[in-house]
Amino acid sequence: MGSLDDTICAVATPMGEGGVGIVRVSGAHALPVASSILRLRSGKPLEQIKPYQLYLGQFIWNPIQTGKIVEREIPTVLDEVLVVTMRAPRSYTGEDVVEVHAHGGPVIVNAICEALIQAGARLAEPGEFTKRSFLNGRLDLTQAEGVLDTIRANSLQSLKMAQEHLQGRLSMIIQHQRDRLVKLVAHLEAGMDFVEDDIQFIDQSELKHNTQEVLGEILQLLASAEEGRMIREGIRTVIVGRPNVGKSSLLNGILGTNRAIVSHIPGTTRDVLEEAIMVEGIMIRLFDTAGLRETTDELENEGMNRANQAIEKADVLIVAFDYSTILNEKDVIFIEKYREKPSVMVLNKTDLPEKTSLKELQNIVNQPGKNSEDGLVGEKKYVEVSALTGEGLDSLKKAIKSLAIGRQYETGDSVLVSRLRHKTLLHNAEVALQNAILAIDDGLSAECVALELRIALNSLGEIVGAITNEDILEQIFREFCIGK
Ligand code: GDP
Repeated sequence: MGSLDDTICAVATPMGEGGVGIVRVSGAHALPVASSILRLRSGKPLEQIKPYQLYLGQFIWNPIQTGKIVEREIPTVLDEVLVVTMRAPRSYTGEDVVEVHAHGGPVIVNAICEALIQAGARLAEPGEFTKRSFLNGRLDLTQAEGVLDTIRANSLQSLKMAQEHLQGRLSMIIQHQRDRLVKLVAHLEAGMDFVEDDIQFIDQSELKHNTQEVLGEILQLLASAEEGRMIREGIRTVIVGRPNVGKSSLLNGILGTNRAIVSHIPGTTRDVLEEAIMVEGIMIRLFDTAGLRETTDELENEGMNRANQAIEKADVLIVAFDYSTILNEKDVIFIEKYREKPSVMVLNKTDLPEKTSLKELQNIVNQPGKNSEDGLVGEKKYVEVSALTGEGLDSLKKAIKSLAIGRQYETGDSVLVSRLRHKTLLHNAEVALQNAILAIDDGLSAECVALELRIALNSLGEIVGAITNEDILEQIFREFCIGK
């Protein structure tokens, strides 16, 4: 990525027509560079206006290059704009920043960028504004990731979680545990200098107790990672069941559309369809799978492969059964096969006369299965619906959500981990802390314990970006768009 000394510019609003289009400039020369393409009503250069206030002005530029013989340039007024300056360090990037609010058309915002580049700025790379904010100490890494998650939020709850990260709630917890580890390591290392004299700066039980407490906090964060991921990415939900129980009808009913083809001919659905709905501020991603059955049809076989992959990755299954027919062996195969997955067991077609009851279904689920090896049963919810009339569909949606997202998050007082990067580093810290506790129990030297604590410390440091390298930063900021 380019140097911090450059002054960068980029269009900050989406490309397309809109009321306003914003171009952002940041860097040591942001004010003189932007000044050279703008004419304020007051005639003052940008360096002389009050920061954090909007000023009316014009964007003036002569884009035509006339070759060797320089004609007297007549600057053309290309738009009427509003301009605001923000002075270092009190800006998003921590540098001098100028924002030009022009009319929102691609030609005008691109022309402003081009003029700024001619005046000495360079086009920003993806995420470069936020990266500068990080490098200038305005945000740590979890907060920078919170910015990205805020922009990408797909539901109200995912937005709420991103904001918690942006406001630094996750960093605060991590930072607190880092401080505790730093103290422990300092005590241990101070003791190493006095080994001969048998002086200890912290006794073993206190050391162990403190390490266990830090470990406890890390484990609590790790326990939230699955829910955090589902809130950020949506709950992957797959509808399964034997052909003709009404899977496609259920998908359509839940979505309130005619997305999937419904037919009484088994095997109509040949691909995995994906759609999303919002339930209580959380996104549910619904996958409708091909009617799983043995077939010689190549196309249908491919559909089945995709269905199996979707099922494997699912957070929740909707296992559908037909209320109007007697449960058969094929239904039981579905129960056995997916017994371990958290599932909503749905009895569909309640508008028709009953042939199968919820009780029967429950009994079969709770019987130790022939096919399931260790008899584990994933959490289940039972719902009766009619995809045809819509009765029970609301309960079905709520059941999916409550299977995936526990009460802990609903109360809103716990901070959730949502990124794989954080989860992996927390796990590394967990292992190191477990090793440190083992080393203490085994009476190993202070060096050994300190070494493990340092590994944990480094992992936590990587989460907030206190310890980092260019590759990690590259990877994180690459996800951003240009202009953020
Ligand atoms: P799939 O093969 O499991 O996807 O099943 P479909 O959604 O294609 O439905 C199979 C048949 O059952 C179709 O004729 C649907 O109209 C019918 N069906 C689906 N849901 C209901 C329901 O709630 N009530 C009634 N009466 N028929 C339904």
